[in-house]
Amino acid sequence: MALSREDILSADRAHVWRPYTSSEDHELRDPIVTARAEGVFLYDVNGKRYFDGNGSWWCNNLGHGHPRIKAAIHEQVETLMHCAMADITHEQAALLAAELTATAPAGLSRVFYSDDGSTAVEVAVKMAFQYFAQNGQASRRRFVSLAGAFHGDTIGAVSVGDVPEFHRLFGPLLFEVEKAPEPSEQAGWEQAVDAIERRLLEHPSEYAAVIVEPLVQGAVGMRMWPAPLLRRLREVTKQVGALLIADEVFTGFGRTGPMWACEHAEISPDILCTAKGFSGGVLPFAATLATESIFDGFRGGKTRAFMHGHTFYGNPMGARVAREVLAIYRDEGTLLHARDRADELAVSMAELAELPGVHRTRSLGMVAAADLGEGGYYGQVGWRVHEHAKSLGAYIRPLGNTVYLVPSLNITADELADLLQILRRSVQAAVSGAS
Ligand SMILES: *Cc1c(COP(=O)(O)O)cnc(C)c1O
Repeated sequence: MALSREDILSADRAHVWRPYTSSEDHELRDPIVTARAEGVFLYDVNGKRYFDGNGSWWCNNLGHGHPRIKAAIHEQVETLMHCAMADITHEQAALLAAELTATAPAGLSRVFYSDDGSTAVEVAVKMAFQYFAQNGQASRRRFVSLAGAFHGDTIGAVSVGDVPEFHRLFGPLLFEVEKAPEPSEQAGWEQAVDAIERRLLEHPSEYAAVIVEPLVQGAVGMRMWPAPLLRRLREVTKQVGALLIADEVFTGFGRTGPMWACEHAEISPDILCTAKGFSGGVLPFAATLATESIFDGFRGGKTRAFMHGHTFYGNPMGARVAREVLAIYRDEGTLLHARDRADELAVSMAELAELPGVHRTRSLGMVAAADLGEGGYYGQVGWRVHEHAKSLGAYIRPLGNTVYLVPSLNITADELADLLQILRRSVQAAVSGAS
């Protein structure tokens, strides 16, 4: 017999420590107790249906329970679930690396596997550092990132990050990373990139890498920045011989329109991080891609090997699923389908901007956001939207007073219209209750 909602909740409240959740919210707020999920919907233990409005934390690009992903997992379970990958290889990791590099921005020909977005970033940072350290450029130790950056929650990833509410407390534990000045308005982005350019040109042999979330800074509040500025960062890093690391953990796999957000700027980074949608959002799996010339910098004997690796490196289940995801994108025309949905999303967000209490809205591809007043991450208006949307059948988790949608790329036009209607009604209700 299935456990009751209360049984599940009492175990959860007594023993689970939930991420980004205060103890009070954990104990007092009523969570959705999910029993299953299918397509773009989560179903709770009572059978109530909710749109998965944040795509299960921005990763569920192909919906829940995609039949081909299920079949791939079933098949893989029968042959190989896990093995080490030092002195061993297997079909799934080998073929995935070939298939992934074939879709990646030009020049990225090597794949280093790991478990999640944070580890993909740790790999990128250590790879850049070791590359210069052992190739006669040990002076290149400086890293720069953008104000408001989010690259994950492990210590290296936090070091390159800059979301005060998540990161400030840990300052004493971090290595030093320079941050471009906070972009205040649209012109601010230009100034931030000007500042990075100036530093790199003043100290051309001291920088190891510039790391960015291409075009969309997710966790700081779905902030969007212009493609030409990414192009400028590519040019200046190339000019001084520093690396450009593109953290496409969120933006990759068509989230912003093209397969990679770097394509908006028609650039190739030296290192690219992918996770989230990489495994269709169903298994923890990640990769850091690098150019052949970086890989070549690790030749020359045992002492020059990249000294990094995780237990579940190249996990066959993750790799099998990631291969199926690539095949589904190809066979189902996922990016083409999402283009129409992205247009609908953009129109709807422009309309939402007209509502009283809505300061600003924006969208790029299948990311859409609305700012509802001051208060940042601890603002309460977004949480009122969340509560209202829940009653109407949608899970829309805010970033403080920024509410956003990150739907599956294969959501249907009707489903998207319904989800947008719920968002609109919830914003109206939350904002009128605000004054
Ligand atoms: C989510 C995210 C990460 C961290 O990924 P995890 O899988 O949560 O460790 C890193 N970078 C970006 C841009 C992200 O959005």
